[in-house]
Amino acid sequence: MSDDFISLANKGVQKLHPYQAGKPTSELERELGIKDIVKLASNENPLGLSNSVVSALEKELESLTRYPDANGFYLKQALANKYSVDLNQITLGNGSNDLLELVARAFVDSNHEVIFAEHAFVVYPIVTQAIGATPVVVKAKNYGHDLEAMAEAITSKTKLIFIANPNNPTGTFLEQDELHAFLEKVPSDVLVVLDEAYFEYASAERRGDAIAWIKTFPNLIVTRTFSKAYGLAGLRVGYSISNPTIADILNRVRQPFNCNALALKAAETILEDKEYLEDSIVLNDAGMKDLTAFFEKHDLEYIPSMGNFVTVNVGQSGDEVYQKLLLEGVIVRPITGYGLPQHLRISIGTFVENQRFKEALVNVLNLQEEK
Ligand SMILES: *Cc1c(COP(=O)(O)O)cnc(C)c1O
Repeated sequence: MSDDFISLANKGVQKLHPYQAGKPTSELERELGIKDIVKLASNENPLGLSNSVVSALEKELESLTRYPDANGFYLKQALANKYSVDLNQITLGNGSNDLLELVARAFVDSNHEVIFAEHAFVVYPIVTQAIGATPVVVKAKNYGHDLEAMAEAITSKTKLIFIANPNNPTGTFLEQDELHAFLEKVPSDVLVVLDEAYFEYASAERRGDAIAWIKTFPNLIVTRTFSKAYGLAGLRVGYSISNPTIADILNRVRQPFNCNALALKAAETILEDKEYLEDSIVLNDAGMKDLTAFFEKHDLEYIPSMGNFVTVNVGQSGDEVYQKLLLEGVIVRPITGYGLPQHLRISIGTFVENQRFKEALVNVLNLQEEK
C-alpha cells in the first residue's frame, strides 16, 4: 500500500509550501520561558480591541447557537452606505484572503496564467498554484510593482492580475494615475484584483478612490479588510467590491457561512467607531516616523512604506537577525521567502513596543547608541 500522498495531490499543490505566519507570542513565551514579548510580525493593530467592539460582542454571544446571517446583510448595508455602492456589489470573506482565493477558484482554470509582482503578497502564488494555474511573476521595480512590465506580460492565457496597493511586505505604493493608466491597458476579459488591505493607512491625499473606477473598469475587483487598521485580525473578515455580476459569481462559490456572527457584528460596530480608526492612523504615523528616523540615524536602508509596517535592510542574513531578536523577546518578520534575504519587515507597534524593538536591534547589530 502506498503512502505517497504527495504524488496524489494536485500538480500545483505538490509544489506549494505551507504559509509561514508570524510566530505567535505564546509560542515564543513557551520556548524562552519569558513574558513581556513584543510581536511586530503580522501587521496587526497595536491599539488592541476597541471598547465599542468588546461591548457589541458581549451582547452577540447569545446568538452563537444559531448560524450567522449567510448574507451578512447589516455589514453589507453599512459598507454600501460608506462607499456609495449597491449591496449586490459586495462580497464578504473570511478575511480578505478568502476573497483572493474565491476570485481565483471562480474564474481561473489550470490552463490560465495569473500575473503578480515579485516581492508581492504570498497569498497570490498560493491561490494560483493551488488551482494548477501558471504564476507569471513580474520583476519588481524599486521593490514595488512595475506596472508597465505587468501590462506587457499579459497574454491570451492571462485571466487574472493581482496588485497590492500598498504592497506587503515592501510597503510600496502606486499612484492613482499610474494605476488608472494600467487599467486602461488591461483587456476587459482579464480580471484585476486591487488588494487594498492597507488602504486606511495610505496617505488620504494620494490613495484616491479605486471603488469609483469599477463603473469604468467592470473587470476591477477591490478587496479590503478589517484585519489591519480596524484591528480585527483574529475575527477574520474582509470584503470585495466589484461589478454585481462578479459578486454574484463569487457568492456562488463561497462557503455559505464564511463570515461568522462575531466577525459580522464586530465589523459593523468598528465601521461606526470613527475614533478608533483615527487613533490607529495617528499612532501608526508617529511610530513610522520614530522607526524610520531610527533607521536613518543608524544608516540602515529602509523601503519607504505606506502601510503599518516598514521593511529594513539589515545588511546581513535577515533570518539570523530575526533569530537573535527572538532571544531579545522581539518577534519581527524575516522575508527571505519573498526574495529579500537581508530585509526584515517590522510592524509598527505602540511607542513602548517600538522602543523595545529599537533597543533589541541596537544590541543585535551592535549599533552605536550615540550616533
Ligand atoms: C494582511 C493582508 C491581507 C488581508 O488579510 P486578511 O485575510 O483580510 O486578514 C490581504 N492582502 C495583503 C497584501 C495583506 O498584507
